[in-house]
Amino acid sequence: MSPAQEIATELLGHFVAGAALSPAPGARTGEVYDPATGRVVRRVAFADVAEVDLAVAAAREAFPAWRDTPAAQRCRLLLRYRELLASHTDDLARTIAEEHGKTVPDARGEVERGLEVLDFACGIPYLLRGDFSHDAARGLDVYTLREPLGVVAGITPFNFPAMVPLWMFPIALACGNTFVLKPSEKDPSAPVLLAKLAMEAGLPPGALNIVHGDAVAVTRLLEHPDVAAVSFVGSTPVARFIYETAARHGKRVQALGGAKNHMVVLPDADLDLAANAAISAAYGSAGERCMAVSVVVAVGDAGDELVPRIASRVDRLRVGPASDPGAEMGPLVTAAHLGRVRGYVERGVAEGAELVRDGRGCAVAGCDQGFFLGPTLFDRVTPEMAIYRDEIFGPVLCIVRADSLDEAIELINRNPWANGAALFTRDGGAARRFEDRVETGMVGINVPIPVPAGHHSFGGWRASLFGDHGIYGPEGVHFYTRPKVVTRRWPESTPAGLPRVDLRFPGSASP
Ligand code: NAD
Repeated sequence: MSPAQEIATELLGHFVAGAALSPAPGARTGEVYDPATGRVVRRVAFADVAEVDLAVAAAREAFPAWRDTPAAQRCRLLLRYRELLASHTDDLARTIAEEHGKTVPDARGEVERGLEVLDFACGIPYLLRGDFSHDAARGLDVYTLREPLGVVAGITPFNFPAMVPLWMFPIALACGNTFVLKPSEKDPSAPVLLAKLAMEAGLPPGALNIVHGDAVAVTRLLEHPDVAAVSFVGSTPVARFIYETAARHGKRVQALGGAKNHMVVLPDADLDLAANAAISAAYGSAGERCMAVSVVVAVGDAGDELVPRIASRVDRLRVGPASDPGAEMGPLVTAAHLGRVRGYVERGVAEGAELVRDGRGCAVAGCDQGFFLGPTLFDRVTPEMAIYRDEIFGPVLCIVRADSLDEAIELINRNPWANGAALFTRDGGAARRFEDRVETGMVGINVPIPVPAGHHSFGGWRASLFGDHGIYGPEGVHFYTRPKVVTRRWPESTPAGLPRVDLRFPGSASP
């Protein structure tokens, strides 16, 4: 055991029925790092089947009373929660930055985007109000109710430890469900803070529970007979596993996967705007964003001017720990991930891409054990290369050259991932053509990270999303509710009004 591990005595436990659940003696645990220093800052408990069962049982017990709480009252509580979260933005941001490595302003941004989902969730009575057909047949009314599903589970990735859980549970709760969250084991503290603040706001114990862990906890949630639905966000191989396993166990499931987002730049674009956008979207959060731009497709001669502009901006980027207020880009999340991303840089060189900027020599003063990789830029990348084909999830930007907009669109549409794509141009006709023809779930026009506002919905296509619903916004309401259609008649109590025997299949024209 290294000295760094010896000093990490804090053990983060589960949060069930409104209180900390101490892990069983001898329970498995994982290490949580400060990626800037490479030190283990605490350990996190890994739930076994019995602990997951306790969390599901707590959520199940809390469900009837929460379901029967009028939506307007649920909303009032969520409004209090929203204000409490907003007042803890800085605490959350610091917690995220410590375990994830992103800068504090970046972490604050993710909390703010999460709050947007709460803004939307606070209007749920309007969205749950159903519809009504008076006299669908004579004296007969038909109406649709949207009812909660019961206990739903969320499984979330490391890269947005606050925002992605906030994509899920506020809407699930607003709709009357109760929730069990299994956050990433790499940065588990922010989600626990989210749950504690929810209790402080008055959420009943058991309505929101947290179990930490790995595939053991996840698999139990997927198989548990009392879990009605599963929301997942993470990498594509795990998303596919979640989708197939949860569906096999009869659950509703939405599983958002990885990404390879392209940003197309036409020669008529404002190239300074495009270069700035490419830098922000490729290297923000060290490229560990599902909506990061990892490929710029430079059309025609755009690349000849664009690449030097990007390179000169790369040279000015400040890489450092979150404790450095001037840092613009932090480290990668773990040593293993750093090794994986460095491996891709080596493969890119071996496969013949032109390495314009090499982040492997990046040194950050006082952080020699940190998981840093500097911004890396490859030009003349081709679709056969591993750095184009695979999701790298690090600060590595690939420039691909294309002859025309149509060639760029074809390239995007052939890619297995289809989360988002962006176009930079001054030509409205070209933008409209792109918008119509490109096959991705989210599209940006002169916007590099087109993450929809909280009252729209987020979701990719193909290998970026398994399931029928995007996440949050109106899609979230549909995912976390099921329709019940009531056909109702109140017959007059006079003998003449009583229905006569009639074996025909009833139609709307029937008397
Ligand atoms: P990951 O798939 O490794 O982990 C996600 C969650 O699944 C974690 O809670 C983890 O504990 C669990 N998990 C991991 N392996 C598992 C297994 N074998 N069986 C069951 N559960 C398992 O993803 P990550 O590394 O935490 O996050 C990065 C990935 O998430 C990237 O691929 C990124 O593109 C993707 N992501 C996608 C979106 C989106 O909206 N599409 C958003 C954020 C992140």
